[in-house]
Parts: sequence; structure tokens; C-alpha cells
Amino acid sequence: MSSACSLLNLVRRDIRVMKPYVSARSLSPLAEGDILLDANEMPYAPLVGTKGYNCYADQQPVELIEAVASFFKVDPVRLLVSRGADEAIDLLVRLFCQPGKDSILISPPAFPMYARAAELNGTRVISVPLEIDFTLDVDSVCAAAAEDTKLVFVTTPHNPVGISVPEEDIIKLCEHFKGRAAIVVDEAYIDFSPHSSAAHLIDSHDNVVVLRTLSKSMGLAGVRCGGVIMHQDLIKEALKVLAVYPVPVPVLETVLEALSPASCKRMREKRARLLVNKKWFVERIENLDVVEKVFPSDANFILVRFKDVVSIESLARKNGFVLRDQNNVPSLEGCIRISIGTRSHMEALATLFEKGELPERMKGRKGECLRRTKETGIDVKVNLDRVEPISVSTGIGFFDHMLDQIATHAGISLKIEAQGDTHIDLHHSVEDTAIALGQALAQALGDKRGIERYGFTLPMDESLAQIALDLGGRGMFVFKGSFAAAQVGELPTILVEHFFRSLAENLQATIHLSIEGADTHHQVEACFKAFGRALRMAVEQNKKDMCVSTKRLL
Ligand SMILES: *Cc1c(COP(=O)(O)O)cnc(C)c1O
Repeated sequence: MSSACSLLNLVRRDIRVMKPYVSARSLSPLAEGDILLDANEMPYAPLVGTKGYNCYADQQPVELIEAVASFFKVDPVRLLVSRGADEAIDLLVRLFCQPGKDSILISPPAFPMYARAAELNGTRVISVPLEIDFTLDVDSVCAAAAEDTKLVFVTTPHNPVGISVPEEDIIKLCEHFKGRAAIVVDEAYIDFSPHSSAAHLIDSHDNVVVLRTLSKSMGLAGVRCGGVIMHQDLIKEALKVLAVYPVPVPVLETVLEALSPASCKRMREKRARLLVNKKWFVERIENLDVVEKVFPSDANFILVRFKDVVSIESLARKNGFVLRDQNNVPSLEGCIRISIGTRSHMEALATLFEKGELPERMKGRKGECLRRTKETGIDVKVNLDRVEPISVSTGIGFFDHMLDQIATHAGISLKIEAQGDTHIDLHHSVEDTAIALGQALAQALGDKRGIERYGFTLPMDESLAQIALDLGGRGMFVFKGSFAAAQVGELPTILVEHFFRSLAENLQATIHLSIEGADTHHQVEACFKAFGRALRMAVEQNKKDMCVSTKRLL
């Protein structure tokens, strides 16, 4: 631990002599209650977000470093947290490679960001392709590296191939390049693999640099948080290169929450489920006529070589699947990289590969109603098998909020755009929206094969809304109770009853709604939520594709 890192001399000289950026706060630790007049921040909290948005987060917030280090199981002094591993790649290139002089080494097909970061930094890229079976060609890597090669990139599990690099290969590289180059082990997918991280090698080989990320295995790609693990001497130098205040406060808050033991446990379960999906999908497709080869993968994706990749790619796209075509990548001709999704995504994709088309029920049950009258123009689109998008715009704020409740609680995608004569009153807009929604839902239900048919709900809060729903085909509405006030927001409560009546008639559903309570806003909201919940249960498709009627027809 005490001796200096053998790579310290490889850090760009101009960076080594540079002094780290110093803020008033980094000079002396802050005490509780200190008054901060040093960074030109606003003393008043902003109107959005939580406490702390008006202040810069520390360069490397201690609680974040500790949480992330503990998740990666490394010493916090060896961790630098960056905006994703991508930023760490760029940082390493700038830290070690003098523009116009040095080089990095990659093994194509390689993750494109290594070469990109190098090009942006005026750094040469030496390429040593993977072997024909996609294993790393360690001897050629050692032979091809130049005097000025500062970084050797190794990806394990590999993206886009998916195979892992054995630890003994990494050790061989470390020994060969000792004191001469950093071995950058990109472990973006390590949490999905049965292998352990190379980070422990830093104790014995101080030229190991490990890249990690929360994007893939923790499901936080949109949060942008990853990091680099390396000898503490190198971390000190890297901090000089890192952008100022790179960790936004909302990111800090989100990551701390996401790394709580409870949430880590749930993500571990999700990863396990994903791996089960992967195994299922591989077994399902590997013997299909269209498939030439499925490559083994330790990650959350698989690389597949198809006999006719162009038509597979266009078939997938036509049916709403976006896959990663690798056909133009040398040595990956005919290949597509497929990320593993939910079981139902993978079932649909496998069926598509096998049959060349999707069965109706896998396309998602969609319905649409474009209703034009002299009083209103209403466009409604629903998809019972997607949860997004949800967007509602009727020009009546409170009503929008209620329709959003239906979609959210039903777990369906809903788009409503309504324009109406709201300058007269809201009656037509509310009624016609209900009619159009009812018709769109009825269309989406189609022949109703396999639906659960009934929905029931549970009590909520001080207001009690109870809905019993039957999608069996008879339009009937029964209402019990009364609203505490005649109006909520701009919406007359009499229209709530009218909305559900029009909906029941147009959806051809039986809806029994009863409401109790004291706060009208809660009462109305409870009605819409309860309907959403009931709808969710009723549109659910049962595994047996069974018709819930003794008539065998709904
Ligand atoms: C996704 C990925 C990254 C980048 O991850 P971020 O943390 O989201 O920037 C790095 N390396 C490989 C191999 C990847 O696939």
C-alpha cells in the first residue's frame, strides 16, 4: 500500500505538475450550521426538487463514494465516481495519453467508446482483433503494443460478444505491461456474470484499472453513474482531470437510494430473473431455421448470427422491435446483438423469428377512436399491453389528472387529445371523452379471448370508492353515494357520474360505483383510481387463454 504506484510516471507530465482545483470547502471540512457564502450559490431553495438543489455537491461526495465502493466491494480510496463508465473511459485517455503522441490498444470488435475517446484526444489506436472464437489474443496484444501505448482495453464480459476473459489472461497482461501501460478492464456487465471482478488484482498488480457502472445491472442507465477503480495514487491524479462538480445532486440522492440493501436485493432478484429469461430465449431460438449460431454470453444480451440478417432485422423493426445490428462490424457479419427483455418480450421475439409474424395477441391489444362532432374533437388511442406512453390533454386540468389516474392504475398506454366547447361548459368534452375512451377500450379488447373479465377494488383513505366491473358485454352503470361538493377544480361532480355512465355504455361494461367520503377531490380521485385498478384486473389475460363465461363467448 505504501509504495508509489508504478504507473504514476505514465500520467501525462503536464497533469502531474498541475495543482488540483481548490475550493474554499475543500480547504477545511465544513461544520454543521456553517454559512456558505463562498460559491455564489443562491441562499434560497429553488421551487423544484428537494433540499440541497441550490448548492453544488462535493466533487466526490463522501457518502456517495462510500456507498458505491461498498457496492463494488472496493476500498473507497481507490474509487472515482463518474458520469457513467463512458466518462471514465474519456478521463483515462486524457489522463495517460499526451495528444498527438501516445496510443491505446483495443481488440476489435470492441466497444466503440475506446476509439472515440482516443480520437477526440488525438491519440492513436492500435487494433489487435480477437481470435476467431472471440477470445483475447494475449500474445499478439503483447507483441503489437508500442512504446507509447499507455492503455490496453479488455472488456469482460465482452460487448457485443458476451464472453468473459479468463483472469489468468488479465494477469499475463498485467505482468507483461508492468510499469509500462495500464490494463483497463471494462466490467460493465460483470454483475450478470458468474465471474468475480478483477479489482482485487490491484493489490498485487498496480497497473490494473477497472471500469464499472450502475447503468446495466442496477437499471440506472438514465442516471449516469459509474466509476473507475485503480491505485489511490492514480485516483489523485485523475481527480485533476475530472469535470468540476460532476455529480448532480438528484443523481447523488437517487444512487444512495438505489444502493440501499433492500433495493440492491431486489435488483439482484431482477438480474436473476433476466438470466432465466436469457437461458429460456437461447434454448428457444438456437435450433430455429433462421438462426446460424447463438454465441455464449455472460451478460444481459446475446449475440446471434442469422442466416439472412437483413430480412431478420427488417422483420423485427416492422414488428416494433429495435435490435442492435452488427452486420457492418468486421468479423460480426450476419450478427445481431439482442438485449434480454421481459419474458413476454422474449416470447414474442422468439415467436417472430420462428413464424415470421406475430400472433395477434402478442402485438398488444390496441384500440383507437377519433370522434368528431360539432361540439368536440376527441382522439383516443389505447394499448392494453403497454404501460407507456400516457398523455392526456383535454383542456380541463383536473379531468386530465383523473384520466391519467385511470391509465396509470390500469397499467395501460393511453393517449387522449380532446378539444371541445369548454367555453360553454364541460359537459360535452367530458361526455365525448368517455364515449371515445369506451369505444377505444372496447376495440382493444376485441373478441376478449382470455381476459379475466371481472375487476374489483379495495378501499382507499378516508374516501371509499368501490368499483365492481364486468367487461362481459352489457353496458350498465349503477351509482351509489354523493360527492361532498358540487364542484372540484373546474369540474362539476355531476359530470363524474355522467362520465362513468357514458363509459359503461360505450365500453359495453357493467360498472357499479359507490363513493363515500368528505373531501371531494379525494372522492373523485378515488373513483378514477378505483376504475383504473378494476380495469387492470379485468383486461389481464389469463394464462389458459380461457373464456370466463359458461357461454364460452363474451
Ligand atoms: C454500456 C457500456 C459502458 C458505459 O456505461 P455507462 O456507465 O452507461 O457510461 C462501458 N463499457 C461497456 C463495454 C458498455 O457496454
